[in-house]
Amino acid sequence: MVKINANFSKLNAALKQVGAELNFRYHFVNNKSKIASTRKKFKTDGTLDSIENLQIDFFAGLTFYQNNFVAIYFKNLNQNDEITFHFSNCPEFIEHLNNHEASATLILPESEKLDIKKKSANNNFIPCRLCLEKTNWNNFANAADWSRRIIIDQFNVLEFHKQMFSIERELFSDFTTSQFLKTLPNDFPRILEAAKSNKKWTCQKCKINVSGMKQLYHAIIIDDTIKRYSPNDFIGVCTGCLKVQYHDMYITSEELDFINKFKPKK
Ligand SMILES: [Zn+2]
Ligand SMILES: [Zn+2]
Repeated sequence: MVKINANFSKLNAALKQVGAELNFRYHFVNNKSKIASTRKKFKTDGTLDSIENLQIDFFAGLTFYQNNFVAIYFKNLNQNDEITFHFSNCPEFIEHLNNHEASATLILPESEKLDIKKKSANNNFIPCRLCLEKTNWNNFANAADWSRRIIIDQFNVLEFHKQMFSIERELFSDFTTSQFLKTLPNDFPRILEAAKSNKKWTCQKCKINVSGMKQLYHAIIIDDTIKRYSPNDFIGVCTGCLKVQYHDMYITSEELDFINKFKPKK
């Protein structure tokens, strides 16, 4: 009996995980905010190309288009069947953007094209090594060659986006400004991930653990004048607690459900 129970709870946890992922993938669809209207310009495969006056912003070391985090690749620049996508201001991306802007294609992190679980033979998207180095994702910049290969193979842009999503949510909820995000170092993705995992994805206010729905976790810089980024310089809070203090904080009903369900009772 014990064994069955253990398996059942495992299955339950797995289902929760899948549900959280599905919600995150599509949760903008029925929203009327500005961010949703930008996302509606994207084709159903999650890409957008032939954009006039393409303007890419670099916020917290990452590539944004109209306040949406996007990955970017360039059509016709790949000799083999591997397509390299960028997500930071690496030198190769800047060079391509200057010389081949017309072939730039934006791709949303939730695009199934980028889903490593559904990698098809003729559509092999791989993350740019220079972008991994620049953002220092998974400590890529300091990793040995063999572990760099593992980081590249396992890089899942949707999972990456979930961990970084607080930046986007804070930005389009006007909790933070694009000007401030531009002052953050290029390796901020690594800094943020390290701060969040240091706090074990647990809200320091209500104690909810949101590792099953990582997009709900924020690591807020306590004093942004210091420009110091050790985990102790951040406070970890969930979107729910932020919303209590800051009413404009964007949150979906699925996310609220998750918080109400898993928030420890006082
Ligand atoms: Zn790159
Ligand atoms: Zn909380």
